Amino acid sequence: MKNRRRGVKESRIKIENELDNITTQGPSKRRKQFTVGDDGRIMFDEEELKMILGFKRGVDYIEVGCGTTNKAYGDYVGILKINNKGEYYITCQCCPMCPLESVTLEDFEKHAFKEGSGKWKSNIWVHYENEDRVPLSKTPLMKYYTHQANVANWKDAANRKRNFHRDEFIHCSSCKKERRFRLRGRQEIKEYHDALTNKSWTCSLFPHQKITCNTEEERPSLRASRGCPRAATCQGCLSCYCKGCIKCRFEDCNCQECRDFMLYAEP
Ligand SMILES: [Zn+2]
Ligand SMILES: [Zn+2]
Ligand SMILES: [Zn+2]
Ligand SMILES: [Zn+2]
Ligand SMILES: [Zn+2]
Repeated sequence: MKNRRRGVKESRIKIENELDNITTQGPSKRRKQFTVGDDGRIMFDEEELKMILGFKRGVDYIEVGCGTTNKAYGDYVGILKINNKGEYYITCQCCPMCPLESVTLEDFEKHAFKEGSGKWKSNIWVHYENEDRVPLSKTPLMKYYTHQANVANWKDAANRKRNFHRDEFIHCSSCKKERRFRLRGRQEIKEYHDALTNKSWTCSLFPHQKITCNTEEERPSLRASRGCPRAATCQGCLSCYCKGCIKCRFEDCNCQECRDFMLYAEP
């Protein structure tokens, strides 16, 4: 049984290597380029930020002017504030009465477009002295962004993301049968992730229906199918295997994969 588990792991590593070859940029484990003080707080690099219009430096934050353009209604302008914990907020100034104060970038985008597109880092821009409307993604502002500090910013995006996650199996530690986990939504993925980290997981903990160790295992012919949308018996391809996304990594999980994702993945 040990061997089979190892087999699963090996095939997973193989897929990951293949995916690395296919995608030009592997998972972003690049360390963010900012420095952190003794107190664990971000030290902003003023030199590269002060060319952005509206730049101000507060005791524990920086702010810049920002905006987003709605094709029908024109520009919505606001102030983007990043505090030294790395949290991002915008206060909208589209009109004197606008109630949007210190909202997430997602919410600011939603306010301007009626519904958010989830592409706030390209839709929200700042002005430079010599260039107008530079998307956030092309500015050094983005390097201070981590998922960990900005949970509120990506909650909606997580539910919208359509990354496919194939079915996975977990062995019961008692009867050794394999049980299928369908990973369609974030809740299901979380249940699987928890089961995976629980070394003494047993059938009685199966979340989707009541089963015991006496419940029959799926037939091998059925088990070969993981729900890949391209091929029934696919054991992992780009359309069904996810290397880690906002839907299958969790901010309150302490495993290495989740921690790396929260700190180093591209927003
Ligand atoms: Zn507004
Ligand atoms: Zn069992
Ligand atoms: Zn596949
Ligand atoms: Zn994923
Ligand atoms: Zn985890």
